[in-house]
Amino acid sequence: MPHFLRTNPVPVVKGGYKSFRPHVRIDFRQFCSYCLVHEDNAAGEENYELDHFRPQKHFPGLIANFYNLYYSCHPCNHIKRYQWPSAELELMGIGFVDLCKDNF
Ligand SMILES: [Zn+2]
Repeated sequence: MPHFLRTNPVPVVKGGYKSFRPHVRIDFRQFCSYCLVHEDNAAGEENYELDHFRPQKHFPGLIANFYNLYYSCHPCNHIKRYQWPSAELELMGIGFVDLCKDNF
């Protein structure tokens, strides 16, 4: 079973993808989707951001896709940034652990 369950259907919001932030925050139960540190242990909500799991640079069509938005602490988001495995690596099963889909 995945670590995080996403809201379904997609919440209705007005504005750009940042409008999804409160809903993404709830889905990830205020934990960073990468290091699993809770906001309360990382100086609070203001140190958390929306990450595009599949980076905008490589997947421009997913910029405003709710299910591509992951809650991330600033350090994890900064380290990950635009990194994404090549198609060859993905075929070999190498990539980021997706705690919304993978059993980990
Ligand atoms: Zn983190």
